[in-house]
Amino acid sequence: MLIISINLDAQHSAKKKRNAQNNNIVALHVLQCLISLHEAIQPPKEQLPPGRELQRKDWVTLNRARANVGMTASTLHKWKLRPDSECPCGNQNQTKDHILSECTEGPHCTDQDLRDCTDAAQAWITHWREKI
Ligand SMILES: [Zn+2]
Repeated sequence: MLIISINLDAQHSAKKKRNAQNNNIVALHVLQCLISLHEAIQPPKEQLPPGRELQRKDWVTLNRARANVGMTASTLHKWKLRPDSECPCGNQNQTKDHILSECTEGPHCTDQDLRDCTDAAQAWITHWREKI
């Protein structure tokens, strides 16, 4: 009876280990898909990405932009926190992509600039940090 119990425990442990490995593989695949969809997202590393020396408010703005979760008018409108998604420049939909590359209200930069925290990205952050 004891031997059967030990074998069942061993089988259960092996199954749990396989499930954990499968979950890790799925999580890694999802992360790789997200990274391939969004250039500004960093591949996983053991150290913080560029920009870690920025002041907290700038660091937060940078990472919100990298993750495409900045509080733009479009996002606030989607969350029903604004009556419309209009940008101060007159564009009907203030998305991150709009303020990154089109908006006449501030400087522009690319997802790669955000990823590398270039001077262009820092100028963009300085302009938008209190607005998004
Ligand atoms: Zn605009």
